[in-house]
Parts: sequence; structure tokens; C-alpha cells
Amino acid sequence: MSTNQTEQVKTCTKCLIVKSVNEFNKNITRKDGFASWCKPCNRLDKKRYAQINREKISEQTKKWRKNNPEKVKEKKLRYYLKNREKINEQTKKWRKNNPDKVKVCKSMYYAKNREKEIDRAVKWAIDNPEKSKDIKAIWYVKNAEITKERAVEWGKNNSEKIKAQSRKKSQKDCLNLTDYYIINGLSVQSGFSSQIIRNIPGLIAMKRKQLKYQRIIKQQKKQNYETSEQQESFCHTMQMD
Ligand SMILES: [Zn+2]
Repeated sequence: MSTNQTEQVKTCTKCLIVKSVNEFNKNITRKDGFASWCKPCNRLDKKRYAQINREKISEQTKKWRKNNPEKVKEKKLRYYLKNREKINEQTKKWRKNNPDKVKVCKSMYYAKNREKEIDRAVKWAIDNPEKSKDIKAIWYVKNAEITKERAVEWGKNNSEKIKAQSRKKSQKDCLNLTDYYIINGLSVQSGFSSQIIRNIPGLIAMKRKQLKYQRIIKQQKKQNYETSEQQESFCHTMQMD
């Protein structure tokens, strides 16, 4: 090894080329304060070592990662912060080129974090009522065909349930004399459309009143009939005795 401090050059013991000391790493354990191999030789050697011992190194790395999760996290974060723009760009590109993988990743993530995601979505919808309305509308338009098909399919499989539900609803409408019930009845009787009936002022309220009185009268008649029947059967019993 030949060293020349005045000219600041040194011969690399690996490639045997005389180079400026700037081409050598600093090493305080050496007499002259510089490593004996030049930087390129060092790099090459490291690379060769890595190639030869690939499996061993990867095994060691794995082990180290497993034993130092916090350090791994820190390292990752530091790397991310340093290369944020580049990473984001790469991620974007990858997402664009791997839509199927993105879908799988998303559904896996969603399955893992379902509750959390629902909470987040609900919170977002509350904070952004206008936007969430738009999104809902977009979703419906986009999925109109699917939604319709599903509804038809569901209807086919649940016809009894639907009939029962509609019976229950009509009973309720009839009992409560809802607008729907009254308009429907008037429309059937008169032949006018429900739109016309709805636009005649006071008509629905009037019809409701009429129906109420009719029901009261009917109820009264029924009660009278029942009492007269009771009276009759009472007299009959008396006669029998
Ligand atoms: Zn060298």
C-alpha cells in the first residue's frame, strides 16, 4: 500500500489503482485514516457478497424484522416521508395497472375493518349531507339495473310475504282513513285520476268526515242489533221457563 498524504492520493489494495483519498471511505482504525479499498471496490464487493449469500442475508433480514417491529415501522415511515411523492406516484400507477388486485385488497381490508369502515362512512355522511346525497343518487343510477333485477328476483321468491304485507297496509290505511285510502276509493268510484282528486280543495277532508260518520252509524246499528237480539233471546228464555 502506498500513501501520499501531500498529494492526497492512495493506491487501492483491491484494484491497485492510485486514486484521490476522496475515493476512499474514512476509517479511523487505519494508520492513514482511510479504508484500504476504494469506494467502488467496496461497493462491488458488497454486491458480490450479497449475491453469493442472498439466502443467508434474506434469512437474517427476516429475523431482524421479526425481532424489531418498532424499528421496521420507524424505518418504513422515515423512508416514506423521504420519498413520499415518488411512492404516491408509484402507488397510483400500480393501482391503475392492477384494478383486480386493488379490488381484492379493498375487500380484504374492508372485511378486516368492517365496523370501523361503517362508522367512518356514517360519520362522513353526517358531516357531508349534500355530497352523500349525490353519491347515493350516483350509486342508484349506476346500479339501477342490478337493483331492479334484485327487486324482481326477491319479489318472485317472496310473493306470499308481499301479499301479506300489502294486505296489512290496506287494513291499516282503511282503519286510519289515510289520504291514500280515500283518494284511491274516490278514484275508483268516480273514474277520475288521483291527481285530479288531490287538487280539489277540501274534498279529501270531506270524504274522510263522511266515512267517519258512516262508520259510527254502522257501529251504532250493529250495537242496537246485538242488544235487540239479546232482548229477544232473553224474552225467549223467559217464555221457555
Ligand atoms: Zn479499488
